[in-house]
Amino acid sequence: MTFSPSNLSAFRSTAFIGLGSNMRDPDWQVRQAIREIDEIAETALVRISSLYQTAPVGILDQPPFVNAVVQVETTRSPHDLLVELTDIEQRHGRVRGEKNGPRTLDLDILLFNEWAIEDERLVTPHPRMHERPFVLVPLLEIAPDVFIPDRGFARLILATLDAGDVHKLDDGQPLAPTH
Ligand code: ADP
Ligand code: MG
Repeated sequence: MTFSPSNLSAFRSTAFIGLGSNMRDPDWQVRQAIREIDEIAETALVRISSLYQTAPVGILDQPPFVNAVVQVETTRSPHDLLVELTDIEQRHGRVRGEKNGPRTLDLDILLFNEWAIEDERLVTPHPRMHERPFVLVPLLEIAPDVFIPDRGFARLILATLDAGDVHKLDDGQPLAPTH
């Protein structure tokens, strides 16, 4: 749905969603997922980061990832939004495998307002987002002043990390040689 203040009349929440893929044409997976997020009922896409090529974390022997972050406004509950995102992952053939292993599409709720949610299905802020340059770089591109509850300003956190493995993609190609 295209963003328009008039078509979201009830309480509007702001959420940031992290996207990642390293299988079956990751660039397409991420672009297509953004289109599908735009189709979620009562949810409007507000900002879309560039796509980034990033080095895998944890399991190093796997293809590079494509990552991006989008900002949405929604009148849905956080758990409803998570269900919608899981549906999109499944439509992309997501099979839950190894933690940090290869995946066709991973969609994470990074932030939902400044709410601290912690139950068996959903934790926000996403518990590892502040350690991950591949999340923080695209997040800061679209939200330079974003604050991560209990952690601090994303900008200050990123300054303490090495973001050398996060490269903006331009039409599917890294803008500059990686080294
Ligand atoms: P990961 O993204 O950590 O590699 P998965 O994508 O396989 O792992 O997700 C595992 C579970 O994480 C999901 O079933 C979901 O219920 C839970 N989860 C908890 N918090 C979040 C969140 N903020 N965003 C997305 N999923 C979450
Ligand atoms: Mg996930």
